[in-house]
Amino acid sequence: MSGFTLSRRLFMVGAAGALTLPAMPRAFAQATGPFTQTTLGYAFNALEPHIDAATMEIHFGKHHAAYVGNLNNFAKDNAQIAAAPVHEVLAKLGDVPDAIRTGVRNNLGGHANHAMFWQIMAPGGAKAPEGDVKAAIDRDFGGLEKLQDQFNAAGGRVFGSGWVFVTVDKDGKLALVSKPNQDTPLMDGQRVLFGNDVWEHAYYLKHQNRRADYLKGWWNVANWSVIGQRYAAAKAGTLTI
Ligand code: MN
Repeated sequence: MSGFTLSRRLFMVGAAGALTLPAMPRAFAQATGPFTQTTLGYAFNALEPHIDAATMEIHFGKHHAAYVGNLNNFAKDNAQIAAAPVHEVLAKLGDVPDAIRTGVRNNLGGHANHAMFWQIMAPGGAKAPEGDVKAAIDRDFGGLEKLQDQFNAAGGRVFGSGWVFVTVDKDGKLALVSKPNQDTPLMDGQRVLFGNDVWEHAYYLKHQNRRADYLKGWWNVANWSVIGQRYAAAKAGTLTI
């Protein structure tokens, strides 16, 4: 199946719809439940050449979809994990039953991280920071190039699988944070301005072991329009995941 065909199918479901079309290949089906994967909003090949279409198709359609499916399986017997907003559950993992706490940490963290990740990448957005978010980057990192250098270095230092994030507090202050696995600053009650996935599944088909090349090229697909909107939402107290 081509990425184009699959992406057309994904676009056929509504923004809040679960991926449960009868024609959907089994690997892309989700368990029915309260957790849903919103549509990508752009084609799998839209981020070429920096992120290849095959990586996007597998990453979105299998990796992220699996986290959502696992959450729906947990929710069958533990409805409370879907009763509160995602960021609130992640900030209070201690309240999750012992038997599913690690699973919720990994899969709900993965769901939140990827929902953010698809959103902050896209063709057509601003190619560089503008306005308030630019001013914050200049103030807190000394400019975009210095942020990129620090961010890429932090991404390179993640041993094994994980993420590198820029967090934003309600005053608009930015900070660099790395996390292992599918952990997220949301687990510390913080908010994520944007982040990059440095699991091998995010880049290995194209870049193999050259994570630094992936990190460097990734900035070409950062959507600064959306990141600017997230910055404003964080300051307004309305940013969630
Ligand atoms: Mn991933």
